[in-house]
Amino acid sequence: MRDFAYARAGTAESAVRTLADPGTSVIAGGTELLNWFRLGIAAADNVVDIAGVDELRGIASDGDDLRIGALATLNEIGEHPLVTQAAGALASACLQAASAQIRNRATIGGNVLQRTRCPYFRAEEPLPWPCNKRDPGSGCTSLAGRHERQAIFGWTQDCVAVQPSDPAVALAMLDAQADVLGPAGPRTIPMREFHLTQREAADAGQPMRETRLEPGELITGYRLPASADGQAYVKVRERASYEYAIVSAAAAVRLDPVLPGACGAGRIAAARVALGSVAQRPWRLTLAEAELPGTPLTREALIPVIERAMADAAPLPQNRFKVTMARNAAVRALLTAGGAS
Ligand SMILES: Cc1cc2nc3c(=O)[nH]c(=O)nc-3n(C[C@H](O)[C@H](O)[C@H](O)COP(=O)(O)OP(=O)(O)OC[C@H]3O[C@@H](n4cnc5c(N)ncnc54)[C@H](O)[C@@H]3O)c2cc1C
Repeated sequence: MRDFAYARAGTAESAVRTLADPGTSVIAGGTELLNWFRLGIAAADNVVDIAGVDELRGIASDGDDLRIGALATLNEIGEHPLVTQAAGALASACLQAASAQIRNRATIGGNVLQRTRCPYFRAEEPLPWPCNKRDPGSGCTSLAGRHERQAIFGWTQDCVAVQPSDPAVALAMLDAQADVLGPAGPRTIPMREFHLTQREAADAGQPMRETRLEPGELITGYRLPASADGQAYVKVRERASYEYAIVSAAAAVRLDPVLPGACGAGRIAAARVALGSVAQRPWRLTLAEAELPGTPLTREALIPVIERAMADAAPLPQNRFKVTMARNAAVRALLTAGGAS
């Protein structure tokens, strides 16, 4: 561990002023950042602690929106009645993340900025193998090595890693916006565009860039349109707790009103669905969302719609199973959100 200077910020503005120094990192819960320091993934000369900045706290209604401060912890969000009522998929995603102890510390601001769990990236320095994220230009060991947990969408030869955040998938599905404060003032970033796939980053000329957050910018919170639609978050993992997703799916469903005397499955009036841990960003199935209105809420009717929306999946040799697993997670999330399972 290298030495660094530590200071506490009193306001979001003072934190942003301190961040203007390129050797400075923000710390919130510290559950990611301190691991990066230990592994040699990141180093900082100065660390500015935002944990005491009250304006970054809180969960409240703001007109038709739900406003969640960047310092809200995953447990606070998962258990808050405003979130469970208006954004149930987000509450569920938060409560299915990490362990109870970590959720008490982990903030939603830091969560969406967590880095990939790719084992080649997470190794302790000195890095025993090439990794373009750690040493740009050195190569991607996962591509020719183990890659069963890696991306099925949006990857390049330079990197095949996925973004592992659970809450980010729900935020993208719910059309949340991140409120950001930077040297140029406040701005918003839609959460469905917040993360970049490797392909998007390469096309923008910055192949290793992972988000649209600019250096020196602080996430102050999130705004979500409150939704009365049924919602669900399905996380597929190797054990029921304290485990990252192999794949996940978040969904919101509104059903057509059932006509008197009608029998059989209800039909979907509107639906949103996003996959997690399949790319370096949450993956909205927009083709399915366009096709789902009018579709019966049954497994048999949903499977072909989701398969058509995932037709451009490009699995690697060891992770073809993720295509079927992600399809099934999306179907299960839609059925659960619509009250059919
Ligand atoms: C063992 C373990 C298991 C986990 N399992 C899961 C899981 O199953 N699912 C899941 O989704 N997550 C999981 N996580 C990730 C965890 O949720 C994140 O580590 C946590 O949310 C990060 O928040 P933090 O406040 O601790 O961030 P920090 O460690 O303080 O910061 C992380 C990064 O975000 C930046 N940052 C923090 N806040 C802000 C802000 N407001 N504005 C701008 N930059 C900011 C920091 O500078 C740093 O770059 C796990 C973590 C651990 C350690």
